Amino acid sequence: MTAYDDLMAQERDTQALAQVAGRLAWDQETMMPRGAAEQRAEESGAMQAVLHARRTDARRGDLLAEAESVATDEVARAQLHHIRRDYDRATLVPGDLAVAVARLTSRAQGQWAEARAADDYAAFAPVLAEVIRLKREEAAAVARGRDLYDALIDDFEPEMTAARLDAMFAEMRPRLVDLRARALDREWPVLDAHFDEQAQLRLSRELARNFGYDFARGRLDMAVHPFSSGSGDDVRITTRVSEHDPFNCLYSTIHETGHACYEQGIDPAYRLTPLGQGVSMGVHESQSRIYENQLGRSRAYTGWLFGRMREMFGDFGVADAGTFYRAVNRVHRGHIRTEADEVQYNLHIMLRFDLEKALIAGDLSTDDLEAAWNDRFEADFGYAVDRVSNGVLQDVHWSLGLFGYFPTYSLGNVYAGCLYRTMRGAVPDLEAQLARGETGEATAWLRTQVQRHGGRFAPAQVIARACGGEEPTAGPLLDYLDEKFGGM
Ligand code: ZN
Repeated sequence: MTAYDDLMAQERDTQALAQVAGRLAWDQETMMPRGAAEQRAEESGAMQAVLHARRTDARRGDLLAEAESVATDEVARAQLHHIRRDYDRATLVPGDLAVAVARLTSRAQGQWAEARAADDYAAFAPVLAEVIRLKREEAAAVARGRDLYDALIDDFEPEMTAARLDAMFAEMRPRLVDLRARALDREWPVLDAHFDEQAQLRLSRELARNFGYDFARGRLDMAVHPFSSGSGDDVRITTRVSEHDPFNCLYSTIHETGHACYEQGIDPAYRLTPLGQGVSMGVHESQSRIYENQLGRSRAYTGWLFGRMREMFGDFGVADAGTFYRAVNRVHRGHIRTEADEVQYNLHIMLRFDLEKALIAGDLSTDDLEAAWNDRFEADFGYAVDRVSNGVLQDVHWSLGLFGYFPTYSLGNVYAGCLYRTMRGAVPDLEAQLARGETGEATAWLRTQVQRHGGRFAPAQVIARACGGEEPTAGPLLDYLDEKFGGM
C-alpha cells in the first residue's frame, strides 16, 4: 500500500463522517423538534471534534507529505491539493476554538430564528457579537498575514479576494442601478389567485425531475430557508410553499435542483473523496442560478410552464404567456434578498458584503449593525426597512458564522452569465427545446462542462474551461440582463 492509497482510505472515512455531520445539519432545519436545540448543539460539537481530530492527525500530515513527494497523475495531484488546503487550515485552528465555533453557531441559529420571529434584533445582537469574536479569532489563526476577511472568503471561494470582488461590484453597480430605474418605471403584472399548496409541491417535484434531479438519490422537504445538502448518492433539497405565490415554491425548487444536480452530476469515481463535491460556493451558485434564471425564467421555458400551470390550476387570471413571462420576472420594490428579482439581487449582496467586511475588520459593532443596515438599505433602495425581520434579521448566514459567503451568490450570477453565453452557442436550438419544457440538452452540457469535474479544477478555471478559455467577468451577465429587462 502506497502512502497515497493509505491517505485516500483515511480521507474516505473522514468524508463519510462529514456527510453524516451534514445530515445532522439537514435534520436541524427540517425535522428536529424545537426542544432538541441544546442537545443538538452538543451532538454537532462532538461530531466536529471527531472531524477536527481526524483532519489534524499528525499521521495525516506525514502521509500527505510522503504522497506529495512521489510523482503522481493529475487527478491524484488535485486530490492532494485539496487535502493540503484542508490539513493546513485545520492544523492552524486550535481544536478548542473549532469546537467552540460549532457549539456557538448551533445555539446562535436557534436564537436568530426566535429573534426573527419576534422582530427583536436586541435579542440576537449579543450572540452575534460572540460569533464574530470567534470568527475573527479563527480568521487570524489561518490568515498567515492576509486580511481577515480574505481568509474567511477562502473557505467558500478559494483564490478570491475582497479587492477583486470590490472591482467586480464596481463594474456591476452603475449598470444595475440604471437598469433598475428603467425597469421600476414600468407596470409589472402580479398573480392574484389561490394556488393549492399540495398541487404546488406536486409541480415542484415534476420540475425538479424535469431538470434532471434524481429522486432515487435525493428527497424534497420543507424548510424556512430553502437549501440543498449532501454529496454523491444522498443529495437532499428543500423548498417552501405559499398559497398566493407559487413562484416562491417553484423557483426555490428549481434553484436547489441546480445545486443538487451539480452534486449528483460529479464523476462517481470521485465519490467520498476531496474531489467529490462542488468546488466552491460560487460555482455551486452558478448552477442553481442558471437553472433558475437563464433557463427557468426564460421566455421560452415560462411559455411551457404557463401551459402546465393552466392544466394544474385552471384559469388563474393571467391572459397569455407574454403576461406570465413578465409576472415571473417582475421587477419590484421589496426588502427580502431571496425574493429579489434578477435586476436587484446583486444590490442586496453588495450591501451585505460591505457590512460584513466592516464587522470582521472591527469597523462596525453589532450594537450599530441594525442602524447601519437600515441606513444603507434606504440609501441603496430609496425606501426604509419596515421591520427588522425584513432587514438585518432576514438571513440565517451570520448566525451560522458564514462570513465571506454572501459575495459567492453574486459570483454565481457572474459565472452563470458566462456559462449561458457559451451554452447558447453550444446548443443552437436551445430556445425551441425550452419552449417544449425540455431542459435535457442544456443540463447535459452543464454536466459535461462543469458538474462532472467536482473539485478537479479551481473555481475560475472550471468556468474558464467551459467558456473556451475566457476568464469569467461580469460583462456577459450584465449584457444578458440588459437584453432581457431592457425592453421587457
Ligand atoms: Zn443557492
